[in-house]
Amino acid sequence: KPMEDRISDIGPRFYKEFLPPVLEKNYGKWVSHEILEPGLLVHEAESGDKVYTVRVGSARLISTELIREACAVAKQYCDGYLRWTTRNNIEFMTTSLESAKALKADLNSRKFDKGSYKFPVGGTGASVSNIVHTQGWIHCHTPATDASGTVKIIMDELFEEFTNMRMPAIVRVAVACCLNMCGACHCSDLAVVGFHRKPPIIDHEYLDNMCEIPLAIASCPTGALKPGKTELEGGKKVNTILVNNDRCMYCGNCYTMCPSLPLSDKEGDGVIIMVGGKVSNRISMPKFSKVAVAFIPNEPPRWPTLAKVCKKIIEVYAAEANKYERLGDWAERIGWESFFKKTELEFTHHLIDDFRDPAYFTWRQSTNFKF
Ligand code: SF4
Ligand code: SF4
Repeated sequence: KPMEDRISDIGPRFYKEFLPPVLEKNYGKWVSHEILEPGLLVHEAESGDKVYTVRVGSARLISTELIREACAVAKQYCDGYLRWTTRNNIEFMTTSLESAKALKADLNSRKFDKGSYKFPVGGTGASVSNIVHTQGWIHCHTPATDASGTVKIIMDELFEEFTNMRMPAIVRVAVACCLNMCGACHCSDLAVVGFHRKPPIIDHEYLDNMCEIPLAIASCPTGALKPGKTELEGGKKVNTILVNNDRCMYCGNCYTMCPSLPLSDKEGDGVIIMVGGKVSNRISMPKFSKVAVAFIPNEPPRWPTLAKVCKKIIEVYAAEANKYERLGDWAERIGWESFFKKTELEFTHHLIDDFRDPAYFTWRQSTNFKF
């Protein structure tokens, strides 16, 4: 059955109902696109129709008031249409360049009481992208760090580069608040991952009453859990779960299944910084992000160490990379040894990659690696 004819009373409505008429008319027939200036793109269709898009950054959690204001802007300039991208950008589309320029100027003029932009225009081309990120302390149960808080401080440091296109190439930034990485950290130029450093604490008293023991055991990706019995104070014997600490990688999957296996820890939790990942195959093959900083403690509300390290990495990359080189391309060209020296990060043998499977041995295990 063609997608258009599908009948469904569950889930989201069919996306084509929400397309601006010009997009629906030219669906699948777009031939080219160009970035005219930071935050302003044009797409041209076979028919000659053009669509001008103004992209603005938004936080992932925004107020109803701000959403209403965005809708009012869309009503004024875009016949009521707007869309959110996976990176939490808002895109306003219009069919005339004149209207797009007026829209851009209007968006740039809208500010909060303290002077920060409500709708910062940017995030196109060789810029620092809006940060794709996860839930953090507000919404998820397994975070080792906050997502909104860390994103805010990193973006405060890099904001100018969001609104310009003066980086060597696009810098995709991501934050995930635990190893489950709901963000795109595994292939981002700069990624921050929340990391627990201790295995779950077992609440034997409640575990058997609160949890499906087989389900919790099956959720562990490393086979670190097994069923067991223990004796509570007072002599009562209960069914429980035993953790093989040496096998645990602190992912929190078991806590997702069983609230009696919490692993948040004020001192133990913090973040890792990963760099050099990408999905593009320009210049070199797509690559996974690599660990460049093994641990930074959580320092809310402003995470000063994290902010400083992220800024330093981006500054050195911006100053040293060739045009079109992504961060990973640059690091590989100059050598990871130079990357660590130039960014003033300490190198340990835990960093860059730690694949143990011979199928994944990389040049880091070769004699060419100087550290
Ligand atoms: Fe939750 Fe982890 Fe996803 Fe963050 S990355 S939202 S803690 S599962
Ligand atoms: Fe297994 Fe992850 Fe739980 Fe550790 S935290 S026991 S690796 S599921």
